[in-house]
Amino acid sequence: MKTELLGMGMYIAGEWITKEETIPVLNPQDNSFITSVPAASAEDMLFAIEKAKEGAKIAAAMPVHQRISILNKAANYINENKEEYAITIAEEGSKTILQARAEVKRCIQTLQISAEEARRIQGETIPFDQREGSENRVGYYYRFPIGIIAAITPFNDPLNLVAHKVGPAIASGNAIIVKPATATPLSALLLAKAFEAAGLPPKVFSVITGHGGEIGDILITHPDIRMVSFTGGLETGENIAHKAGLKKISMELGSNSPVIVLKDADFEDAVESTVSGAFYAAGQNCLGVQRVYIERDIYDEFCSSFVARTENYQVGDKMLETTDMGPMISEKEAIRVETWVNEAVSKGAKILTGGKRQGAYYSPTVLVDVPEDCTIAQQEVFGPVVLLYAVDDFASAIEKSNAVNYGLQAGIFTRDIERAFEAIEKLNVGGIMINDSSDYRIDGMPFGGVKGSGLGREGVKFAIQEMTEPKVVNFKLNYKRTV
Ligand code: NAP
Repeated sequence: MKTELLGMGMYIAGEWITKEETIPVLNPQDNSFITSVPAASAEDMLFAIEKAKEGAKIAAAMPVHQRISILNKAANYINENKEEYAITIAEEGSKTILQARAEVKRCIQTLQISAEEARRIQGETIPFDQREGSENRVGYYYRFPIGIIAAITPFNDPLNLVAHKVGPAIASGNAIIVKPATATPLSALLLAKAFEAAGLPPKVFSVITGHGGEIGDILITHPDIRMVSFTGGLETGENIAHKAGLKKISMELGSNSPVIVLKDADFEDAVESTVSGAFYAAGQNCLGVQRVYIERDIYDEFCSSFVARTENYQVGDKMLETTDMGPMISEKEAIRVETWVNEAVSKGAKILTGGKRQGAYYSPTVLVDVPEDCTIAQQEVFGPVVLLYAVDDFASAIEKSNAVNYGLQAGIFTRDIERAFEAIEKLNVGGIMINDSSDYRIDGMPFGGVKGSGLGREGVKFAIQEMTEPKVVNFKLNYKRTV
């Protein structure tokens, strides 16, 4: 299928703008050409911001029932065209067609939840008379939209992670400019198409395509942008945070998530969940399982079962429903993963299975005995590689889990409720999954990390909090309260 977006350009304030200078969008499976998108210039970005200034006023004035109706219409539009959306995600990114369909379903839900949350943006009355001298005052606060939000998004969930910024922004009466990942801009453009069809006032939402390193600074540093909502890698996030200046920032960054498996766990369930959590979307998943700490008594058996299940994984053509895992996003990324694995092996790690690369494909890889000073033990691998470690006890599993500069989500498999509660208390992460791998999320839960994994929370309702500010209203009454 050649996407209908061919030649449509980028979406700025309701116009599909084409440019002479373009960026090719390639299918990472075979580097085949899908289409091209405009390479936006600094002027295009400034134009989009100017339009968004008007858009912010329009968005803030939009009654809540209209926001709800537009969000639901956009969700319905995507549902009616869901296969086109899924094919686009699968073609431009590295998800399989089944994983892409699941992402489309989640995107629809994200927009529906945004519609629901729009009616729940509330304030509170304030008891001003708690302070002496304020007896004759009454008032409240309500939440108001902050203005223009800049959304910068990654390649790995090219539709739903954009919806996680656009849905809450529209629900809360803000304007939004999206700069999608250059590798996967088409899904974000399709999202714009859904909002155009839903009747969103044009200046409220733009999707501008181009290299982040070239046009990002204008968006990040512009004084009219009131919030930068970023999802991507730690290094890029830190760079953006340094430049953003006096504006809100929300940082959804990476991780190298730990999972603890205790000897009382449901063994089969633990193996199945951690294998799937490690290799979903070729490991290019911010919640992906990277480090598994297994109680020594069950370690050997766990390793054998894990390897057997991994070797059953079907790696191949993304568009086949029988494929479990496709390519990485690019050959360059697969080479990076290969280099990290080779470094670990040179320091004493063993490959139990995998460790092979062909173009952008890197085979599902299981490593043991990885020294803790290796890059792959400390950094986010963002590829299909998992590290299995034996641990002597629960305390050392907790200590090792926390001994990195990331903290997005963690998992623990155990039937012991005391241990589960201790893990909840001691693991330094944004979310803990009991008897699930770190790779579990629904779109309505608070989502985000600590340490190098980020700042702030998404998950519609929580993103809305970040995208709004309280405004206090105080009425001074001139009559005396009497009994
Ligand atoms: P990335 O390289 O950090 O890029 C993310 C976005 O930032 C892209 O749109 C990129 O544009 C843009 N960008 C790059 N340099 C920029 C600059 N100097 N100024 C402004 N924007 C700039 O990340 P990625 O490789 O696409 O995605 C993988 C990362 O995202 C992983 O670390 C993963 O864990 C993280 N992630 C986190 C979450 C979460 O919710 N916590 C979810 C998914 C992914 P270009 O593409 O044009 O360079």
